[in-house]
Amino acid sequence: MKVTSIRQAVAPIGSAIANAYIDFSKMTASVVAVTVESGDGRSATGYGFNSNGRYAQEGLLRERFIPRLAESGELPAHPDGGFDPFPAWAAMMKNEKPGGHGERSVAVGVLDMALWDAAAKLAGLPLWKLLADRYNQGRADESAWIYAAGGYYFPGKDVEALVEEMKRYLGLGYTVVKMKIGGSPGMPLREALLLDLKRIEAVLKLLDGAGHRLCVDVNGRFGLHAALSYGNAIQGFGLRWYEEPLDPLDYATHATLAEHYAPPIATGENLFSMQDARNLIRHGGLRPDRDVLQFDPALSYGLVEYLRTLAMLREHGWSPRRCVPHGGHQFALNIAVGLGLGGNESYPEVFAPFGGFADSTPVENGRIRMPDIPGIGFEAKNDLWAVLQAL
Ligand code: MG
Repeated sequence: MKVTSIRQAVAPIGSAIANAYIDFSKMTASVVAVTVESGDGRSATGYGFNSNGRYAQEGLLRERFIPRLAESGELPAHPDGGFDPFPAWAAMMKNEKPGGHGERSVAVGVLDMALWDAAAKLAGLPLWKLLADRYNQGRADESAWIYAAGGYYFPGKDVEALVEEMKRYLGLGYTVVKMKIGGSPGMPLREALLLDLKRIEAVLKLLDGAGHRLCVDVNGRFGLHAALSYGNAIQGFGLRWYEEPLDPLDYATHATLAEHYAPPIATGENLFSMQDARNLIRHGGLRPDRDVLQFDPALSYGLVEYLRTLAMLREHGWSPRRCVPHGGHQFALNIAVGLGLGGNESYPEVFAPFGGFADSTPVENGRIRMPDIPGIGFEAKNDLWAVLQAL
């Protein structure tokens, strides 16, 4: 087993949208192709990219992680005879100190995705099936629950346009939608809250008042006072979840919020290692019977690390069903189906071509099935395959 070639490129995914923290006008993504040889003359090329919210990692890839992977030499096979991304991952992380994860986790995650795509292709299996066989006693879900993430801020977008957007998602087969809140910088808290309540109530009306069909996302913008004020105002709506109300690394303040806000809280998309996730679980006061964990394998050292995170969660009494990864990509969707997660994010209208799933699998009643082709399934998504093929 050997890595024989690695190529990388940078693709633009900029758009005019914004959340409460950043705009996406200059957003980029790293894209890689990694070829693996099995030793019996067979080879497979896997592809990887980083999900939205973090920029391309061209320098880290070029200077450290691609050279180390390229020089990893003969790698031990998995006990099932197939390619095992774990030793390749260890080679990439040689001479990296613990802690201070920064965005190297994004660079490693891009390569890790490609390694898993190649491993599944060498085995002739869809990744979800390979994962179920290796790590879940062969049990894969038939489909995954997904929800439509949108409701971004956009110049000139009013409440009516927000409701129209949500209507389109329902028309596509989604049953649960998510909207941004807290994105009125400079506005006094009281005014911003009243404006957001108007936006939330308009979407709830579209959903016949069914709060469990709506999530709201603050993108880490609030301090404790704003998070509590909003929490107090929205807790009667029965929302599906209140996402990233606080700075993602401020665990103690999450614990305080959780004492005062009983409905589900979701967070974790900006925690990039098992150790950061463990700190959230130990100190964040989150509740394993209702809260939602959104660690994104593509941003946090890939699936090798995500498997460690899932093991850590089990040790702390958390079911993998509490995990609904950020990112809206096919990699996390395969993981959700193969390892029994709670579902996956989806962006029906933004972050193309990296967001979104196979063309042949429509959303039905808020769920999606997996295509039965080897690898992650990029070849079944035309717009993305055009970008990956160019490598
Ligand atoms: Mg979010």
